[in-house]
Amino acid sequence: KFEVKFILDRYINLKITYKEDLESLNYLDYKDFRTGLGYDIHRIIKVTNKQYISLGGIKILSKAKIISHSDGDVILHAITDSILGALSLRDIGTYFPNNKKNFRRNSKDFLNFALEKMRKKKFLIGNIDLMIVSERPKINPYYDKMIKELCSLLNITENSITIKATTNEKSGLIGDEKFIACWSSLSLIKN
Ligand code: ZN
Repeated sequence: KFEVKFILDRYINLKITYKEDLESLNYLDYKDFRTGLGYDIHRIIKVTNKQYISLGGIKILSKAKIISHSDGDVILHAITDSILGALSLRDIGTYFPNNKKNFRRNSKDFLNFALEKMRKKKFLIGNIDLMIVSERPKINPYYDKMIKELCSLLNITENSITIKATTNEKSGLIGDEKFIACWSSLSLIKN
């Protein structure tokens, strides 16, 4: 004589009895969820006459000039690295070294390269969280324009992205207005 016992467990802990039960595992997308982290930093110098700089895929007129081999878009570089990171494909410098071909190169090329890798592996961006650390340029006046441009570049909607901006509280080299940095954290979900 056997006594039946019940055990309370998580819903996700599926009972596998028959061969067909294994198939249901294919419909669980938790195993196809990935996250990526990207970081980029560039030197900035103050100039007397305002110049156009590239930031978040748009052009901003600023007295802070970004020093870089490419167009120096720290936001696009950080996003590119976070996508490559989520796909376990190393980093931007692996594919785009500081050579002649990449001199003054539009950072959208780097981003599109990573997006292409992502699509080939059948992933979509779940959400993206950006953090810019700089004293200048101020991001707020360009926030809406930047978000629109990034949504179009990344093929996402505005509720999947945010840009947080913080200063370094006047401390260190960022606080001294000598550097601009950006962090990007994102999730990828299987298409
Ligand atoms: Zn960079």
